[in-house]
Amino acid sequence: IVQFIDVHKSFGDVKVLKGIDLDIKPGEKVAVIGPSGSGKTTIIRMLMTLEEPTSGDILVEGNNLWKMSKKGKQVRANEKHLRNIRGDIGMVFQHFNLFPHMSILDNCMTAPVNVKKEDKNEVRERSIQMLERVGLGDKLNNYPSQLSGGQKQRVAMARALVMRPKIMLFDEVTSALDPELVGEVLEVIRDIAKNDDMAMVLVTHEMDFALDIADKVLFLDEGVIAEQGTASDVIEHSENERLQTFLRRFR
Ligand code: ATP
Repeated sequence: IVQFIDVHKSFGDVKVLKGIDLDIKPGEKVAVIGPSGSGKTTIIRMLMTLEEPTSGDILVEGNNLWKMSKKGKQVRANEKHLRNIRGDIGMVFQHFNLFPHMSILDNCMTAPVNVKKEDKNEVRERSIQMLERVGLGDKLNNYPSQLSGGQKQRVAMARALVMRPKIMLFDEVTSALDPELVGEVLEVIRDIAKNDDMAMVLVTHEMDFALDIADKVLFLDEGVIAEQGTASDVIEHSENERLQTFLRRFR
């Protein structure tokens, strides 16, 4: 469902990604681990079309994100093309990014109703269902400022799920939370991972969590995928020294 083909990304003179090849199958759960600054967030941002690769191709369901074919020629993708593909991708950020002036329910409803032009009543039903699923059925009319960090992050997940994405991206979604709130958020992701058939890409420092839910783990280091395989192969049995050094900090 997602393919990266020799993707490079530089910011000015700084080469952040130096040739990433990646193939994510429908429904596959992929954890991305690696040291700070290794480019994990950049991969997620490129998939979300927030950042353009310097070279290489990124395909979502066979559609090239940044190029489209016109009269048999490849040309730079326009905003409409990007918007169509983006509709299949949901994202949850480290810092929630909820709309502070909207109720929890309206936060979930706004994109499907106002961007996708879906039926309001149907979206309301679905939003309530999703908020109940993340354990916030009693907070529909509260505002983000009235919630804990863990609750806000669960709203962000419900909001992404209401869009019925084929791919969900999670970028260090627990790293801004107080330690006692991490568990409740991981529990919701675990539930989604075990019960939904969407593909998931998770940037995480929670190694036990990755072991539990990921089909595949990628270790990103110095701009390349230095190691990849099943969660157990990468996290428990790899002999890559840099990976072992990295893991010692988390386990
Ligand atoms: P962390 O675990 O700390 O979040 P990361 O692996 O997610 O790190 P990225 O956020 O992808 O790393 O950043 C990789 C490198 O790219 C860093 O050196 C960062 O400073 C640089 N970088 C990221 N975004 C930009 C930008 N918009 N302009 C300039 N440099 C950037």
